Amino acid sequence: MLQKIAIVGGTHGNEMSGIQLVSNWIRHGIPSVYCDMDIDCLFANTDAMDANVRFLEEDLNRQFTPQKLAAAPSCLEARIAHELNAKLGPKGASDYDLVIDIHNTTSSMGATLIILEADEFHVQLARYVKKHMPEANILVEDEKPPQEHPYLCTLGKRGLMIEVGAQPQGLLRADVYSLTEKMAEVILAFVQLYNQQSVPALPPCDAFRFIENISYPLDQQGQRLAMIHPQLQDSDFDALNENMPVFQNFDGSVEQWQGDTVYPHFVNEAAYHKLHVAFATANKTQL
Ligand SMILES: [Zn+2]
Repeated sequence: MLQKIAIVGGTHGNEMSGIQLVSNWIRHGIPSVYCDMDIDCLFANTDAMDANVRFLEEDLNRQFTPQKLAAAPSCLEARIAHELNAKLGPKGASDYDLVIDIHNTTSSMGATLIILEADEFHVQLARYVKKHMPEANILVEDEKPPQEHPYLCTLGKRGLMIEVGAQPQGLLRADVYSLTEKMAEVILAFVQLYNQQSVPALPPCDAFRFIENISYPLDQQGQRLAMIHPQLQDSDFDALNENMPVFQNFDGSVEQWQGDTVYPHFVNEAAYHKLHVAFATANKTQL
């Protein structure tokens, strides 16, 4: 039984689809069909929202490891993380049964549901989302225990992220907003059924399981040697097979993928540009 739910926007202050959806649900109420649930809608980083930036000092969505929450806060976002831990947590002992954190990406990931574990609840949720939103992608990030992730959504007993793109930072696209709203409502519809113990039997669904981040090639001075190859750009969740182009080097040559077939995502995500992360890889799996 999931009684207490939090829906969060503005964890990144320039991701407007989640901010707008949460704003609309705060102003007008959540859709009445979900009114039997105890749902709190809130903004995470209002300082960053006011400035229309991802964060002011450090990425808020990397502040929620047990270690960071135990240490004295050293920046604005760490202080906000401590406040949110008091409000939505404490992490590991929260009253909130589910925290849904809404993001968007500059990558062409469509509507993606990110889950941090593949237990019975999340497998059923993934299948339900896929059935009611076949265009959605399911991304499993269970390379470590859920509580070790630095994400805001790990404050709750369970945590999910909605990640929709492509949408530039700092503005709102109607198509991205609609997908975000639809995925949020499908998740709430699932929770309602789960609470009523009436989730229908659903067939296994395709999903992607995170493997690793791939960095841009750099020279010895740390200067970028390449950009994403046009064939990989906007090809999130398409198969990347051996010898397919990955990077277009500035010297005119092309770097090809070596190794097993993977499924790139977060391809050329703006927020990862400074970190030299070119894309993330995943396996295809079934849940
Ligand atoms: Zn985000």
